[in-house]
Amino acid sequence: MPKDPTGKEITRRTATAAFMVRKAGVRMTRQRRAVIEVLLQSYDHPTAAQIYERAKEKHPGISLATVYNCIESLAAERLINQLHFDNGPCRFCPNVEPHVHVLDDATHQVIDVHMKEGLTPEDVFELPQGVRIKSMEAYLRGEIPENSTSENIK
Ligand SMILES: [Zn+2]
Repeated sequence: MPKDPTGKEITRRTATAAFMVRKAGVRMTRQRRAVIEVLLQSYDHPTAAQIYERAKEKHPGISLATVYNCIESLAAERLINQLHFDNGPCRFCPNVEPHVHVLDDATHQVIDVHMKEGLTPEDVFELPQGVRIKSMEAYLRGEIPENSTSENIK
């Protein structure tokens, strides 16, 4: 899990635009701030086009290229996760805590789910001897009830 300069763990709730640009090694601009704030407030795993639409509400002059560049620099530093589902457009997740995704096949809703307290991937999966898990990227498919969001699950 990323840590801030004081050694405190950065979670989705504590991540800030300032932290994200510093870690990504880019300069803070008003446009980058708008993109990152949209990401940090989005629990629905938006596409780049959706992030652009939302950022435009606060920052009408922003371009799609700026949004893509910002997202790419964050993804390259693994400050956000890039999700690929079937042939659809990439979706993005700013949740930096270890988690997996559940995709609803019918609605395409995606939510974050976390491992039960105290469990590790080694407890859940039959791993060949010597395999060590460093991070987790997985998705489960199923049905998500209408009132479930990543926000109210944890
Ligand atoms: Zn996620």
